[in-house]
Amino acid sequence: MAQTDASTLPSSVGFIGLGLMGKPMVENLAKKLPQGSRIHVHDVVTSVVDELCAAHPDTIIRGTSARDVTEKADVIFTMLPEGRHVKTVFLDPDTGILPGLLSSPSSAGKVVIDSSTIDTATSLHVKDQLAASSPQTSFYDAPVSGGVLGAVKGTIAFFLGASHRDTNVPRLVPLLQLMGGKVIPCGGPSLGLAAKLSNNYLSGIITIATSEAMDMGMRAGIDADVLASVFAAGTAQNAICDTFCPVPRVCPDAPSSKGYKGGFRVQLMRKDFGLALDMARRVGSRNILGAPGFGVYSAASDAPDCKDLDSRVVFRYIGGNENWKKRDSEQVD
Ligand code: NAD
Repeated sequence: MAQTDASTLPSSVGFIGLGLMGKPMVENLAKKLPQGSRIHVHDVVTSVVDELCAAHPDTIIRGTSARDVTEKADVIFTMLPEGRHVKTVFLDPDTGILPGLLSSPSSAGKVVIDSSTIDTATSLHVKDQLAASSPQTSFYDAPVSGGVLGAVKGTIAFFLGASHRDTNVPRLVPLLQLMGGKVIPCGGPSLGLAAKLSNNYLSGIITIATSEAMDMGMRAGIDADVLASVFAAGTAQNAICDTFCPVPRVCPDAPSSKGYKGGFRVQLMRKDFGLALDMARRVGSRNILGAPGFGVYSAASDAPDCKDLDSRVVFRYIGGNENWKKRDSEQVD
């Protein structure tokens, strides 16, 4: 792992895409970059740009386009919904990052980091286009994990599509750590995304398996909290059950205990699961649970009582009993 070195922080950062994740990431940069630093921001939604500029008038500067931001910043981040948005923001011939690199007084040494969760093929395409026209620019995929709360708290993990031997890594780690905690170099281009999609595929599958096993045990007559203790003590132990249990009132702080509000939206899980399966096809892996898993997240994303809620709402989708009562308390009643 590379050594961190705060003296390598850039004086000028760009940020494009100021949504649920991007806005708090920029706020952390504004709070933590050394005084005198500048953050050039752009989003098609102008109200969020207004809000950030008003909150940090000395640090945050409105960019008129991705191109404008690129011309003015040394390190540029993008945090966009999907691959098609990333393609537009990078490659639009008039307003994009690529023409911004070409018209910059100096594109040498500029670094562009895409933190969006997108398909690996689009990420590699964008990297190739930049390498062909602006070979002195470095491009990295660096998707994140930890959700909106992690972005607000500055604890998200970055999965960096770079080798730990990459000479840019020592100067990127301190910058990324202003917005997050762990930075894991995953080996090379697009491998940050490959890591993120593998992680979310696994977490999505564990959620379904946990929901089914809890539902089955509860229907057999075991209290949900007892079942969770059993799983935690045995070979089924997993973080979803321990911290984000899909059954309400097992983990008091989990989204399931708050009406499945907050957390990781089920539609985002459908998107990431689908991207993971695209990658599985591309690399030739045999994901036996892929098709049924995708079916669950697709159907839950469209179900009126599940959509827009935390992805652990799968327990509700499969008909689990959310209003379970402890056997002991039933006896007292
Ligand atoms: P979001 O939809 O809230 O924000 C995306 C922002 O990009 C919006 O403000 C939108 O206006 C802007 N945008 C879209 N097209 C643009 C363009 N052409 N030019 C400039 N701005 C443009 O999404 P989000 O929740 O912030 O997620 C961003 C990425 O991070 C996604 O790929 C998502 O999968 C990933 N992610 C999200 C979470 C989460 O919990 N929300 C967690 C981890 C990773």
